[in-house]
Amino acid sequence: MRALFDRFYKLRLWAQALIVTAFAVASADLLTLFFYAIFFSDRLALDIVLTAIITVLVAYPTSYVFLSKTATVARLAAELDKAATTDFLTGLRNRRDFMQAAQDEIDRTDGSAGAVLFVDIDHFKQINDQFGHAEGDRVLVLVAEAIRASVRETDIAARVGGEEFAIFMPGADLPTARRVSERIWLNCRLVARGTDRGGITTTVSIGLSLHRVSQSLDDLLKEADSLLYKAKKAGRDRVVHTLPHEVVA
Ligand code: GH3
Ligand code: MG
Ligand code: MG
Repeated sequence: MRALFDRFYKLRLWAQALIVTAFAVASADLLTLFFYAIFFSDRLALDIVLTAIITVLVAYPTSYVFLSKTATVARLAAELDKAATTDFLTGLRNRRDFMQAAQDEIDRTDGSAGAVLFVDIDHFKQINDQFGHAEGDRVLVLVAEAIRASVRETDIAARVGGEEFAIFMPGADLPTARRVSERIWLNCRLVARGTDRGGITTTVSIGLSLHRVSQSLDDLLKEADSLLYKAKKAGRDRVVHTLPHEVVA
């Protein structure tokens, strides 16, 4: 039956529709013959009732089968879309979706589009080495939750690498972005304290960069990355940001 459906869906749409129609007509004619053989009557009322019954008997199962197939396809398309844009481990957006969403924000804004944060877990390799990969994964999930809890619905939060996260905050200025980054920094520390297995200290380093008018996404991300690098160099467990560009100028 499945093979039959597969072959059917490989046909051109007009051929599919033709087959469905032929199937409906043949079924309706067969049922008409069946009923006329029983009642052998040409009374109008009976004809109308029989026609209604025939139509229901043919149309309902036919449409049910085809609509359920369409619903399955729609569900699979939604699942595929989610899989293509979501990080499987944490449920945050993935890198590809982050880039697309951040680019959309920059494209639709004339002035500064907002701020971007690069968040990298400190010494994450040690967590893996000491407690195993599964424990590392668990920390990643908790850090993702800490990030999600620290940002707004409209912020674009993603896992962009192994233990690296990025957040784009549309329309955010420096004070707002600093507040959010400090909230993330603090909430990630609470993840470590919340664990029931002692010894894990989850700290993060954060690079915060403000988008400048007509700055490309690539440039903005490079800036955030180099600020993150500075945070690592300066001893980790901190937020490093750019000064407001108005002050620099
Ligand atoms: P730093 O403070 O400089 O950022 O050090 P680090 O140890 O956090 O960074 P490094 O880049 O040396 O190591 C990152 C580690 O993350 C190495 C890799 O095995 C691990 N990793 C990457 N993806 C995953 C994942 O999906 N699950 C787990 N458990 N570990 C991962
Ligand atoms: Mg790291
Ligand atoms: Mg890293």
